Amino acid sequence: MITLLDGTRTYAEIQRSVGDSQPLGEVLQILTEERLLSRVGHLEGSFAKLGDERAEFYDRQLRLLQDFCDQGLTDLPTGVQLQERVDRSTAVVCGVGGLGGWVALSLANAGVGTIRLCDFDRVEPSNLTRQTLFSVADVGASKVEAAGARLRAANPFVTVETFDRRVTSPADLADLVDGADIVINAIDLPTPNDTSTWVSEACWPDVPHILGTGYAYHIGVLGTTVLPGQTACWTCVRTETFADHGRDRMESLVGKREKAGAIGALCGLVGSILAWEAIRVLAGLPPALSGRWSEVDFWPLEIRSRPIPRRPDCPTCGKGRDGVPPSHRPDGPAPV
Ligand SMILES: [Zn+2]
Repeated sequence: MITLLDGTRTYAEIQRSVGDSQPLGEVLQILTEERLLSRVGHLEGSFAKLGDERAEFYDRQLRLLQDFCDQGLTDLPTGVQLQERVDRSTAVVCGVGGLGGWVALSLANAGVGTIRLCDFDRVEPSNLTRQTLFSVADVGASKVEAAGARLRAANPFVTVETFDRRVTSPADLADLVDGADIVINAIDLPTPNDTSTWVSEACWPDVPHILGTGYAYHIGVLGTTVLPGQTACWTCVRTETFADHGRDRMESLVGKREKAGAIGALCGLVGSILAWEAIRVLAGLPPALSGRWSEVDFWPLEIRSRPIPRRPDCPTCGKGRDGVPPSHRPDGPAPV
């Protein structure tokens, strides 16, 4: 019976072939519950709509995307349509160091159509143990140029745009985020909170963004995904988390933050989670990191999360607001 479920026969034809003694309905119910059925009968045939080269390149990923469709997790019926959505999208990766490099590589692998990279730095020998886009031959080169070459080599179907630029304000990001579908902040200097505030202001209220992420020693911060108008915004998040880590107790750790301990394996874990989150947003799948703040402790390998609700009185996204961040209003308070 199962060999007849190849998408070319109707229910009645299969029932006639196996005879009335075999309970087709029951078998289909079990297969459905076990998620072993796909709505598309001839998967490779549906993949071919992308063209032979892309269909072959994305084969395994298309099977995963199709599975999301089969489980009813998306608004589209086929994995090919989800892939086309990703193909048409534009992602901005701010900072291509320890986290941003892994994010950018995974987005390129997934086929995000246009990837914009922004960084001002040059590759140093001490980067190579954790910054996956660079090799020994790249030492001294512009990070965005070396990263761009690596991504183009990884996937010939994506376009990579590079911005050799230091970000010190929201204005520095205006042209990068224009028309983007997702912006991921992976700039950690002067602090992840400062740069996240700039990215949030540059993106608000049009562009989804992933902010507040970071990694040092054995702790990864997964930050949060902001879908403007739908989820808690960066101001909501900062209001909730501002009191974390008493200022006095942080003093003794300042010296450790300057050149934080890090290893490529853990950079890759945090960066890959962020890339997966970005791909979900670009494919129109529900995000996993919205409305919450999560930290991974890699020592016991545990993720700790807490909910971050939208605040009704939030000066940025609260009820009745005009969608303009407070620092952009002539009479508004400074951002938190
Ligand atoms: Zn808010």
